[in-house]
Amino acid sequence: MNAPLVQNLIDGRLVPAESGRTLRNVEPATGGAFGTLPDSDEADVAAAVAAARRAFPQWSRTPAEERSRILLDVAARIEANAEALAELESRDTGKPIRTARTMDIPRAAKNMRFFATAILHTASEAHATDEAALNVTLRRPRGVAGCISPWNLPLYLFTWKIAPAVATGNTAVAKPSELTPATAHRFSELCVEAGLPPGVLNVVHGLGAKAGGAIVAHPDVTTLTFTGGTKTGATIASTAGPLFKKVSLELGGKNATIVCGDADFDTAVSESVRAAFTNQGQVCLCGSRVFVERGLYDRFTEAFVDRVTSLRLGDPMAEETDLGALVSEAHMEKVLGYIALAREEGGTILTGGSRWTPDASRCRDGYFVAPTVVTGLSATCRVNVEEIFGPLVTLIPFDSDREALDAANATPYGLSASVWTTNLDRAHAFAEGLDVGTVWVNCWLFRDLRVPFGGMKQSGVGREGGEEALRFFTEPKNVCFRRSER
Ligand code: NAD
Repeated sequence: MNAPLVQNLIDGRLVPAESGRTLRNVEPATGGAFGTLPDSDEADVAAAVAAARRAFPQWSRTPAEERSRILLDVAARIEANAEALAELESRDTGKPIRTARTMDIPRAAKNMRFFATAILHTASEAHATDEAALNVTLRRPRGVAGCISPWNLPLYLFTWKIAPAVATGNTAVAKPSELTPATAHRFSELCVEAGLPPGVLNVVHGLGAKAGGAIVAHPDVTTLTFTGGTKTGATIASTAGPLFKKVSLELGGKNATIVCGDADFDTAVSESVRAAFTNQGQVCLCGSRVFVERGLYDRFTEAFVDRVTSLRLGDPMAEETDLGALVSEAHMEKVLGYIALAREEGGTILTGGSRWTPDASRCRDGYFVAPTVVTGLSATCRVNVEEIFGPLVTLIPFDSDREALDAANATPYGLSASVWTTNLDRAHAFAEGLDVGTVWVNCWLFRDLRVPFGGMKQSGVGREGGEEALRFFTEPKNVCFRRSER
């Protein structure tokens, strides 16, 4: 497969950056070139926002059934092109083709379909004020939405934002990560083919501070949805706050897996390995700290390490590969830095602990890190508090549920946690006590798109998913019908 010629989508046309500048895209599994992307700046963003503004009056008045029909067509086109999209996603990110095929691309189609149909089933609220008046709440699209997404689940998160924005009648200016532009480009083409009117969705590629920053600062972008790092979220909030934009921030995580002595052992082991290493540990929801009840700790550690060493690292394009490359050289260096820190902080590396070179010769210069398991660290050391976002997991014993809860909560993040127990009372107590947006009991990353999704503390502000997303992208307007007095 050749790298696509990635272009911006502005006013229904695929175009280069106005300046003509491009950025080099890299295939992480090889370290080689994988095409280029537009190095967009303020001028491209201004053109995209202007197109989105022009499209808004008509699109916002387009009947929901028609908006739904077009977005369902986009979903069908994603499915019809699933294999090619999976290959692009795998080449662009370094993730195993199997992950892209079973997780990323199906979910992108599902996002489109979910919100395309959700808008057919919404209801408005009415508040009768005794016999004096009837209040009706109308929900209207807000205008131009800025949608900024990260590299770890490129098309999955890109569509997670665009689908509700556009379905509810807004128009959008969206920016994928500069590290993973390929599927966003193909998606742009599919939207055009599906007949999405020009200007409804505009896609601007480029660097975060430059292209992303211009979207955030543009006065006509009144709604902003961002998924990415906590530091970037803070920068965005500081720009958007004084401009009174409506902002949703989905940020970093440092999630706990808690394994109680009474858990179903085999499932707890296999699922905590999956939680730690899916997508090379580059899912915001990955469980990178595993707290295990003391009585089970030795047996669990042995089984966990056994399972990790059976994971197959390799060329992401190979069918049997479980773990591929990290997204970039810089990110690989960051993860290796944390492995060095784990050693400095007194940790013992049970397996992994270094860069890894696969057998496949095309991947000799790829950015691979062996899945790494560390023990012997305190719950409050830097490795256990800071987000690493890579294939590094720590195992920590606990003696009481109180101790496990306090340790799990001892980070600035609060995105998710998973708890493994067959005791219903313990499950309730953990679910109650964990300061996170999602608690999974006896499962991990089990998603229902209707539920509120998001984080507490420094993991974000606001919620996505289902009704929460429909509300976020609309402005409630109360209309009070006063009744005449008889
Ligand atoms: P990032 O913050 O570096 O970049 C995310 C996006 O923001 C990219 O498109 C980038 O170009 C853009 N960006 C960067 N600086 C910007 C700026 N100043 N103004 C506007 N846009 C800017 O994050 P990343 O490295 O791409 O992604 C990894 C992070 O994303 C991790 O912290 C991970 O936990 C988080 N994440 C969170 C969720 C969630 O749902 N909470 C999901 C996936 C990833």
